[in-house]
Amino acid sequence: MTAAVTDAGDPVALARALVRCRSITPADDGALDTAQRVLEGLGFTGHRLPFRAEGTERVDNLFARLGDGPPHVCFAGHTDVVPPGDAGAWRHPPFDGVVADDALWGRGAADMKGAVAAFIAACARTLRAHGAPPGSISLLLTGDEEGPSVNGTRPVLAWMAERGHTPDCCLVGEPSNPAALGEVMKIGRRGSLNGRLTVTGTQGHAAYPEKADNPVPRLLALLDALAGARLDEGTAHFPPSHLTITSVDVGNTATNVIPGEATAAFNIRFNDAHTPAGLEAWLRDTLAATAPAGTDWTLDVRVTGDSFVTPPGPFTDRVADAVADTTGRRPALDTGGGTSDARFIKDYCPVVEFGLVNATIHATDEHAALADLENLTAIYRRILEGTFAAS
Ligand SMILES: [Zn+2]
Repeated sequence: MTAAVTDAGDPVALARALVRCRSITPADDGALDTAQRVLEGLGFTGHRLPFRAEGTERVDNLFARLGDGPPHVCFAGHTDVVPPGDAGAWRHPPFDGVVADDALWGRGAADMKGAVAAFIAACARTLRAHGAPPGSISLLLTGDEEGPSVNGTRPVLAWMAERGHTPDCCLVGEPSNPAALGEVMKIGRRGSLNGRLTVTGTQGHAAYPEKADNPVPRLLALLDALAGARLDEGTAHFPPSHLTITSVDVGNTATNVIPGEATAAFNIRFNDAHTPAGLEAWLRDTLAATAPAGTDWTLDVRVTGDSFVTPPGPFTDRVADAVADTTGRRPALDTGGGTSDARFIKDYCPVVEFGLVNATIHATDEHAALADLENLTAIYRRILEGTFAAS
């Protein structure tokens, strides 16, 4: 459903219009149209970029840019949402965009249609006050953040790079604050690696161990070496990396059989002291050095995310200053939590995440305080004005 938004500088009206689109990932239901219409009204040039990787559903995206020179500030966000669950359990219907008790209620109000609306409103107010900026502002809005994230931000970034649209810095509007606006901004993430270690022996009767080769003690020795190792002491912006054994499987239902195979799974959350390739090499070296002679082991490694950090500097300072000037809180620079599309953007430019309060995201009765929507708009406006004043 699309609705006309009369004042682009009003974040609540725009957020309401977006919440009223039932854009349950990967559906759009007019959400990108709503944003595009308002942005084009402000002078942005919009490009709709649908992608469909093999074996996936088609997802629509929007890239909109105003101006063509540096500095180029990009806002990245998503208009898709997670399902509402039992809609009857909500205090207000999840797609009605009800304003009550000084808050906007509905799925996506905080994650993250509210932040998309705040950024667009910030653009409107900046343009109204100063005219066209000496540089460019763009928005990368995807409908594929809550889903598999293959037809969204990643291919849009590649499209942008091919056409000279790579930004100088990027602000991601994910809800970064646990309880109050201004507490936390994210400057990076840990990486995650999943390993599966299998030791193969020879099955046999438990009464005749000399005729079998039990893989279980060999697996335990290898796991002991991995779990006992210290990966690092932590880095400037990250706690120490750690390896966690998540499963040990033999699959043996008998009491008188020595199993032929034993498998273990583990996960490593790693900081910026490591690369996935370096960790895999360390795993293989450690296993090779520890394995008793004749041990037949195999290791399967899958990396679901690399670690990254945008080191504190002018861009992070500008965001932190805008937050502090608006809310009176100096945000902590954090690298914890789950993944976001920042993991793709970090390959192109410095990226920082700051958005609304995440206390109700993905939950029944998701909502955003009207004061927070207004303050987030003020923060984004200060970031834009600071960027162009410094240029
Ligand atoms: Zn989100």
